[in-house]
Amino acid sequence: MGPVILTLNAGSSSLKFAAFALVKGAEPSQLASGQIEGIGATAQGSVKTAAGEKSDLTFDPSLRRVDHQVAMDAILGWLRQAGYDSSVAAVGHRVVHGGLHLVEPKLIDESVIATLKGLIPLAPLHEPHNIAGILAAMKAFPSTPQVACFDTAFHRSHPFVDDTFALPRSYYDEGVRRYGFHGLSYEFITRKLGKIAPKIARKDVVIAHLGNGASMCAVHDGRAVATTMGFTALDGLSMGTRCGQLDPGVVLYLMTEKKMNADEISDLLWKNSGLKGMSGISQDMRELETSDSPAARDAIAYFVSRIRRELAGLAGTVDGVEAVVFTAGIGENSWKVREAALNGMEWMGIHLDVEANRANAQIISAKHSPTTVFIIPTNEELMIAEHTVRTAGVTG
Ligand code: AMP
Repeated sequence: MGPVILTLNAGSSSLKFAAFALVKGAEPSQLASGQIEGIGATAQGSVKTAAGEKSDLTFDPSLRRVDHQVAMDAILGWLRQAGYDSSVAAVGHRVVHGGLHLVEPKLIDESVIATLKGLIPLAPLHEPHNIAGILAAMKAFPSTPQVACFDTAFHRSHPFVDDTFALPRSYYDEGVRRYGFHGLSYEFITRKLGKIAPKIARKDVVIAHLGNGASMCAVHDGRAVATTMGFTALDGLSMGTRCGQLDPGVVLYLMTEKKMNADEISDLLWKNSGLKGMSGISQDMRELETSDSPAARDAIAYFVSRIRRELAGLAGTVDGVEAVVFTAGIGENSWKVREAALNGMEWMGIHLDVEANRANAQIISAKHSPTTVFIIPTNEELMIAEHTVRTAGVTG
């Protein structure tokens, strides 16, 4: 068989992966994708092939704590059984933060790993796990090129005003900037939009990546102008467990009046806020949408309200919006969130087609709507695979 590209997206408690076959003259073709959930505890995993066949990845029940290495071994076991293991020509990794210096996808060596370790304070929820995934893959495939693809890269085109905070310039110069995240998703969506609606894609578009992590981005002609996430992936919209935008005075209050230390504040803002913190029930939108708890309703209402504010705000960073695109778990699937977010937005040129929205159609705006609204499923794995092929110089 021809070369296979493995992509890995290592999170705190999950390891998502996909295998792609390299096809000459075409985009990589997905063979299978899967995920292992529950890393750090007793994990379980599953794989689904492109033909739709599902299988489970099982772990020794006596293992109380499955780490990234054990999870990687399970993926390796599956690759072996599928007959792909000896064809893996390169491994591509999603890395959340590239900081000031890591922009383009990069072949991983010791110096890249050292730089990533230095970025852990900027992405404490993600970067340590991205690194753990890289180290596990290097052990499993010691002589195979490994490529890091950065979620911050897409945003390096921000103009200065959308890249800085109103602090003395020295902070910007040392790297306190609006890096922005979900860049692999935005890159995929802008490219896909270029195929679906090429004229619109050349104009001003706001993309809403609404998943467990959530952000929005204004793009002009496929290039990022402004985004809701900032120095870290904590800013902007509320999320599954993160607070989103917060008056920095609240942090000062937590420190001085509540005597909370940095770890306690970090835990509150990253892990115990957002949908989970506000509802007191769950970080999972599906669960909140079926709950009749007033706190669950408030958590969803806050999330929706932030989407509306950011949509209007981002439109002001470009020249209004020609199109809005919804993507990721909530953006692709929750008609209720989309309906609430766009209801009464005719003043922005957005006229929703209620039926199309409820049917999760590709275009959910009315025919006469000056602004077109799309649902486009994202595919970060494909972006990683393509960058990996190019960066590692793999040929079919
Ligand atoms: P992601 O991080 O992109 O996988 O998105 C995860 C989020 O999408 C979770 O909050 C899920 O509850 C939400 N989600 C997935 N499917 C649906 C659905 N059918 N309706 C509402 N929310 C959904």
